Amino acid sequence: MRIDILTLFPGMFAGPFAESIVRRGIDEGLVKIVLHNIRDYARDKHHVVDDYPFGGGGGMLMKPEPVFDAVEAVRQQLRREEGVEHVDGIPVILLTPQGQVFNQRMAADLAKCKYLVLLCGHYEGFDERIREHLATHEISIGDYVLTGGELPAMVVADAVVRLIPGVLEEGQWAEDSHARGLLKYPEYTRPAEYRGWKAPQVLLSGDHAEIARWRREESIRRTFKRRPELLVGVALTTTEKLLLEEERRSAALADAAPVKSEACPMKSGRPEIGKG
Ligand code: SAM
Repeated sequence: MRIDILTLFPGMFAGPFAESIVRRGIDEGLVKIVLHNIRDYARDKHHVVDDYPFGGGGGMLMKPEPVFDAVEAVRQQLRREEGVEHVDGIPVILLTPQGQVFNQRMAADLAKCKYLVLLCGHYEGFDERIREHLATHEISIGDYVLTGGELPAMVVADAVVRLIPGVLEEGQWAEDSHARGLLKYPEYTRPAEYRGWKAPQVLLSGDHAEIARWRREESIRRTFKRRPELLVGVALTTTEKLLLEEERRSAALADAAPVKSEACPMKSGRPEIGKG
């Protein structure tokens, strides 16, 4: 796979892409990441890439010309260097807080593409014509606003690269959270007992069928407790449906129980962030 990233700050990518899994993918020739500085495509001698929004309002917008020219230059490179005939079919993904919220399924779909172009915004974002006539997709990495599209591009690239066949060992991500709609089961490593807290006995039993059953049930329980909405698309066996019913009943009982301390109205020991 080749990922072309268009940005005003190519230097930001040096650290994250020089380490760990993405680095391994690059070193093994499974992915090529090419950075392009949008400023190089500015048409005036001061390399201006932004301008005031028509109608007033705060901040600056990224001008259309350098961004269109940069994408066109990338397409030409792909034609020349990679022999791509239908460059217009390559996804041009705008990173924007207004886009479709990124998830594992989108990462898996993107990992099947041979070429991706990621467009990082800055300032107050892009002139609308970039969104309308250049971008093929719009991705947000969550409902909050960052200063630029660089961190989102790193997030998308990282999530995609780990799913390119060969980057991770076979099956390494198959049980990850979100890979099959569920959150991952709890995991433990040595020592088997730490400060009196024991790892579940079943994990030390060597009984693989029993371990697999325990893990699947814990995945379902954990997903129900933390992200129940994810369970909607998950196929469950009759036994698993009964397990879920049991979880629902005990959750209803826990909800009905009075809150003990007035000093701390939160039911869980771990306060939730952002619900206030
Ligand atoms: N004014 C824009 C709005 O309200 O939609 C936000 C502009 S933001 C300060 C600058 C750039 O950061 C965006 O153009 C986008 O590329 C990037 N960005 C910020 N938050 C993002 C998010 N949650 N997901 C993806 N990109 C984001």
